[in-house]
Formats: sequence, C-alpha cells, structure tokens
Amino acid sequence: MNKSIFRKEVLAMSAYKVADASGFIKLDAMENPYNWPEDITQSWLETLKTCELNRYPDPEAKQLTQTIREQNNIPPTHDVLLGNGSDELIQILLMALSPTASVLAPQPSFVMYQQISQSLGLNFINVPLLPDTFGLDLPAMLAAIATHQPAIIFLAYPNNPTSNLFSSQAIRQIIAAANGLVVLDEAYAPFANASFMDELAQYENLLIMRTVSKLGLAGLRLGYLVGTPTIIEQLNKIRLPYNINILTQATAYFALTHHALFDEQTQKICAERTNVYEQLCKLDGITAYPSAANFILFKTAKNKATDIFTAIKQQGVLIKNMSPQGGLLADCLRVTIGKPEENQAFLAALKVSLEKLS
Ligand code: PMP
Repeated sequence: MNKSIFRKEVLAMSAYKVADASGFIKLDAMENPYNWPEDITQSWLETLKTCELNRYPDPEAKQLTQTIREQNNIPPTHDVLLGNGSDELIQILLMALSPTASVLAPQPSFVMYQQISQSLGLNFINVPLLPDTFGLDLPAMLAAIATHQPAIIFLAYPNNPTSNLFSSQAIRQIIAAANGLVVLDEAYAPFANASFMDELAQYENLLIMRTVSKLGLAGLRLGYLVGTPTIIEQLNKIRLPYNINILTQATAYFALTHHALFDEQTQKICAERTNVYEQLCKLDGITAYPSAANFILFKTAKNKATDIFTAIKQQGVLIKNMSPQGGLLADCLRVTIGKPEENQAFLAALKVSLEKLS
C-alpha cells in the first residue's frame, strides 16, 4: 500500500489514545462518577420506547435545542449548533477555515485544538501560559495575534488540564484584538461559576462552546456552540445532516428536563473537590493547584510523576499522567474528582506511592 495517498500531516500524527480503564477506579477522564436513581432510569427507558429507530433523527434537534437555549440563557439573537461532542464542533470550526489559516491557543490546553488543526494542515500556534499560576501571558498572546492574525483563537474557560479560570479582563482584551473568531470553551462551566454567556452580545466574533459530557452525560456525545447567525450559518454547511442521533436527542432532552439531579451531583463534586484539594495540600512533595473544574492538577517532585502514576495504578486507581507532555506539565498528574470513597482510595494510593518512592 502506497502511504503517500495520505497527507503528510496525517502520517506524522498519532491517534488520540485512551487508556483501558477496566477494573480500575476511574479518575482519568473528567467524568461525573454518579449514575441515576432507579426511578429516573425507568422513566428514561419509557421515553426511549417512543424513539422511531427506523427514521432519521430531527436534523435540527429542535426540541433539544430549545431546552438547551432555556437552560443556558442563550440570547435570542444568537444561534446554536449541536455537535457529536464538542470535539466535533472543534472539527467543524477548523474545517470551515481556509487551508492557510492560523489557529492560536495557549499551551497547555485541550489537546484537540492542536490535534485537529494539524490533521487539517492548519498552522497551529501556541503561546505558553505563565509558570506556576497558569495565567494567560497577555503580551505574548497579543503579539501572536498581531503576527499571525489567527482565524480562530481557542480559550478553555476553565482551562484543561490546568483547571484555572483565565483573567476575564485578559480574555476581553484578546477578543477585542482578534480579527478572527474567539471560541471560549466552557466545557467545565457547571463547576466554575463563571461564564461569558452574558457578554456574547457585545462581541460579534465571540463563540461559546459547551458540552453535556462533564455534567454527567459523557456517553451521549453532545456539545453545543453559540454564536451569531452569520457565523453559525457558515458552520452549518460543514455539519453532517444527522449528526445528533435519535437516542442522544431523546436522552439529552430527558436528562436536561431533570436537571435538579445534575445540580445536586455537581454540588457534591464541588464539595469533594475542596476536600481532595485540602488533602493534597497536606502532602509533602506535592503541589496542588486550585481548581474551578471537576479535576485537580498537581505537581510531584522532579522526575517522580511517572513512577507515582504507575504506583497509584498498581493499587487499582487510574488517573492521568500529564508529565510526558513536558513543558509546564512536566512532573504533573491530573485526578478527576470521583465519589468520596473513590477519592479516598486515590489519596490512600498516592500516600503509599509517595512513601514507597521516597
Ligand atoms: N473542551 C475541553 C476543554 C475538554 O476538556 C474536553 C474534554 N476533555 C472537550 C472540550 C471535549 O468534550 P466532549 O466530550 O464534548 O467532546
């Protein structure tokens, strides 16, 4: 087989790898650890019975979109584009650009911005975050905007994997300086108490992206992007006709109309986040970073992260080793907040690992 039929960017890439989590306490992927009570599961199953699987789904997912609008206070002036996860929305945005376009994001941030840009042969530029605080380096971001005139800037708010909220003032300056689009990726909004949704109307180049994944519906694959009708009209041309399947539409609609359940779960996760953070701060050799999301990034002693990660895994707890990414993530590990007993198992495994490796 002649590999040269594939673009050189594709040949140079590696596929996004997901660790096999079977048998582990799974604290690696920012999932909500809670499932639904039996009565809610039963009534969800009843609604699924009404799905006509022999028919294509509503191509515009009208009922679901209306609920998303209401629950997120989306201004009536703006349109909503649904994606098969926000990953697909990132892909749609990037596929709509000219092949010579530049894309800008801080580093480290969500890897898909870079991965998809590179797969499409776009010019991806990253600007390092400030060490220790992981704040935006505003002068460097503004300089990169002036030099590269990016068609899209991605800012995750809060950021993955650093879990902090960037300064809202710095974000406003970036939106004002940008000639192209600015996508604020609010994937972790449920845990953050901060959003730019109220400011959408002030900037015509601003888009807000969210997902139901972190809220507790990662298995559904549903994200949404909010922007002016002029922008969404163009993106809609790239979207595949039935990208949100009938089961996702019905289930997301059902789940969002039971949002009190998720509000309660989110509160529990936030309370546990405080607890885990405080426990991590007490450990010698660990620096935990404050979090506005459902995970915590922490730093280990120099060159110890991979050994600690492996030792925790050997005790049955799967977290994420960020250290191989290098740069500001060298020596860093990331743990997703789970149920109280899962978090305790993680902290116990971490303590044993630190003792063993000291
Ligand atoms: N944006 C950020 C910042 C994320 O961390 C993630 C998931 N890790 C996503 C988007 C993708 O979310 P989804 O499950 O909706 O594709």
